[in-house]
Amino acid sequence: MSGGHEFVNWSRTLRFHAERYVEPRDEAEVQNIVHQARAEGRIVRVRGAGHSFSQLVTTPHIVMSLDRLKGIVAQNGNEVTVHAGTRLKDLIPALKARGLGLRNMGSVTQQSIAGATATGTHGTGLRYPSMSTSIKALRLVRGDGAIEDITANAPDLLGAARLSLGAFGAISQLTLECVPYYEVDYDAYVVSFDRAVQDLPTLAQENERVLMWWFHLEPLPRDRVIIITKNKAPTPPQGILAGADDLTGGLGGLLRRLGNRISFDGIVPLYVTDLTIGIARSLKSIKTSGNYVRVLHRRGGYEDMLTIPLLPVYHRECEYAIPFANTQTALRRMDSLFREMDAKLRLPVEVRFVGGDADMLSPANEGDVCYVGASTLENSTEIFERFEPLMKELGGRSHWGKHANVTPDEVVTMYPRHPDFVAFRRQRDPDGVFLNTLLRSLFA
Ligand SMILES: Cc1cc2nc3c(=O)[nH]c(=O)nc-3n(C[C@H](O)[C@H](O)[C@H](O)COP(=O)(O)OP(=O)(O)OC[C@H]3O[C@@H](n4cnc5c(N)ncnc54)[C@H](O)[C@@H]3O)c2cc1C
Repeated sequence: MSGGHEFVNWSRTLRFHAERYVEPRDEAEVQNIVHQARAEGRIVRVRGAGHSFSQLVTTPHIVMSLDRLKGIVAQNGNEVTVHAGTRLKDLIPALKARGLGLRNMGSVTQQSIAGATATGTHGTGLRYPSMSTSIKALRLVRGDGAIEDITANAPDLLGAARLSLGAFGAISQLTLECVPYYEVDYDAYVVSFDRAVQDLPTLAQENERVLMWWFHLEPLPRDRVIIITKNKAPTPPQGILAGADDLTGGLGGLLRRLGNRISFDGIVPLYVTDLTIGIARSLKSIKTSGNYVRVLHRRGGYEDMLTIPLLPVYHRECEYAIPFANTQTALRRMDSLFREMDAKLRLPVEVRFVGGDADMLSPANEGDVCYVGASTLENSTEIFERFEPLMKELGGRSHWGKHANVTPDEVVTMYPRHPDFVAFRRQRDPDGVFLNTLLRSLFA
């Protein structure tokens, strides 16, 4: 049925109509909207930048954007209070002007700070838990219309509220613990899949940040991967990677020049993956003779080095966090599965590592994790149907902002603190003003 507002997410894979779209100018307006919705039995969902792949913001009634609530509110040393609608791409330069930076982040900067943290957005690095853990306090317009300041004095509640999928109400402000601005050394290596899987647990310990790109693209062999390390500059290659062969002058120089010429701001259609294929073909020609070959070295501000150089392209992504100890088993079993299916993916499988935390709904709750993400488009159903059961079998928990086929019973089993989360939610939104169909099935 058609309505007053059409919502389309970034990847164009989620589309729905809502009665109304609202953009309040201040917190008092947010409160009025919530009071009115509660009185009329309407469901409000807050949207950030619309970068989630899942059904989180779906509602037949009111989509609320906090795009007008943006910018820095106050600073106290390394702690900075920001309006919840602030986009990361605007926050980063504002922090930089104060000599500060974000401790960690994902691959892109289009998200709002409240949206990114609400789903547990993460980067890579065992020393770097998900972005939500940087939140030291937040201010909430609750589902019952009350305003609540949640601080570290109530650690359990804070650990629920900062990764709460918008289920407690509309967050209006967040206080973030930042770090002094930093530069990062970015190094990319080509190596065989087998060697990478053997070494990954060690590489994850030896480097601040490490990730693996594993191509399933014609005409690339599946047994060649790219390992990327990101260490605070200056850090020369460490441990295992100190013995890598070096090719950074040749292909690396070419890749760097290519990367510098591409604008990452706009949305790039899928055919750009031809570019990825072209680069991957070049990588195929590199002879690794069993050793790592360093093909690219860059140094720059963290905001450039931690984000993706050649993306985004349209895709659907399914990503699971599995216990760190299961990394090698998961990748070997995935290798067998994808060979058996002859799986073709538009983008490389991405393997990242994230430090454990105590947030109740965090996929990294109670221990370090390895995140494995599969991204594709036309064949996503077929791929995800086989990928998800494997990840679940190995103790996986799905990323809240990405595609997932997880039942309410599975969520209860995955998250030991689920009952506490539900209790906190009910206190803040007794009438379910912020509960859409998905959230009602999980947390009513
Ligand atoms: C190209 C691309 C790259 C990505 N890279 C990564 C990555 O590297 N790592 C990673 O972990 N994830 C990644 N993601 C996922 C993305 O970071 C998350 O889905 C994130 O939640 C999107 O933020 P958003 O601002 O678009 O929020 P939305 O998707 O609009 O909303 C997400 C959730 O936040 C809630 N929310 C938003 N604002 C508020 C508020 N003010 N108060 C209360 N609730 C609120 C919404 O209700 C919803 O539940 C990527 C996604 C895309 C499309």
